[in-house]
Amino acid sequence: MSEEEKKLEELLKQGLVSLHEKEKNSHKTEKGVYYPSALGSCLRKQYYTYTLGERVSPEELVIFATGKGVHETIARAFGEVATIEKEEENISLEISPAIKLKGRIDLLIADYDGKKYLIEAKSTSKTPDTPFEEHVLQLQVYMHALNYEEGFILYWNKVTGEIKVFKVQKNEEVLKNVFERVKKLDYYVSKNVPPEPEAILKGRFWECEKCPFLELCIR
Ligand code: SF4
Repeated sequence: MSEEEKKLEELLKQGLVSLHEKEKNSHKTEKGVYYPSALGSCLRKQYYTYTLGERVSPEELVIFATGKGVHETIARAFGEVATIEKEEENISLEISPAIKLKGRIDLLIADYDGKKYLIEAKSTSKTPDTPFEEHVLQLQVYMHALNYEEGFILYWNKVTGEIKVFKVQKNEEVLKNVFERVKKLDYYVSKNVPPEPEAILKGRFWECEKCPFLELCIR
C-alpha cells in the first residue's frame, strides 16, 4: 500500500472518530441514566462503558455510519408514500427515583391512511426468522414511552437486499424485564463489580468479536 493510500484510510478513520466525539457529547454516560439503544447489548460491555468510558473501534464506527445511512434512506423512502412525523424523539422513563431510561431515540413514525406506524429500522447482514431480543426490548421501551400499543421492527438486509418487518405488541411483562435489567446494570455500576460475561454465556460470540473490551473481559 502506498503512503497516499494509507494516508487516505487514516484520514477517513480520524474523521469518523471526530464525528463520533461530537455526537458523544449529547450522549454522555452518567450513573443512574441508561440508554434504551444500548440495553440489549451484553451487560458486562455496558458496565465497562459506564466505568471505564466508551471505547469504539474505527470498524464499529463504519458499521454505525452504514446503519445511519440505511436509516436515512428508509425514512426518505417512506416519506415518498407516507407522512413521516418524526425521526428523532427524546424519551424519559423513570424506573426509580435514582434510575432513569433516557435519551434521544432514532425511530420512524410513518402516518399512512390515518394510521401511525412506529418503526424501528435495523440494517443487518442476516435476516432473522424472529426479531432479535435486544431490538424487541428497545422497541418495548419506545412503545411505553410514547404510548403506542404496537410497533414494528424493520430489517434491511444490506447483503441480500431483503426487507422484513415484524409486528410487536406492547407487553408489560417484557417492560418489567427491561426495568429489572436496568436495575441490575445500575447495581453492578454502583458496586463497581463486573457482571457475568453475558454475551459469552449466551453464545453471542459475534458481539464479543466486535467488543472493544474483549481483552479485558477474557483476561
Ligand atoms: S467480550 Fe463479550 S462477554 Fe465480554 S464484555 Fe465484550 S461482549 Fe461482553
